[in-house]
Amino acid sequence: MKIERACKTCNAMTEEDKCPLCGAETSKEWQGYVVILDHTKSEIARTMGIHVNGKFALRVR
Ligand SMILES: [Zn+2]
Repeated sequence: MKIERACKTCNAMTEEDKCPLCGAETSKEWQGYVVILDHTKSEIARTMGIHVNGKFALRVR
């Protein structure tokens, strides 16, 4: 089973120890996520400061 992790800096979801987007450390301690399909039209993306499409955790510890 794959363990999903979330970046502590930009909240991107990944299975790696390091975030593929910003290179920061990732955490297994996260809650909820959103899938951004079109960040240019997504209000959530704007609120969270997301500038790429993908899966993002709502809360990362
Ligand atoms: Zn990141």
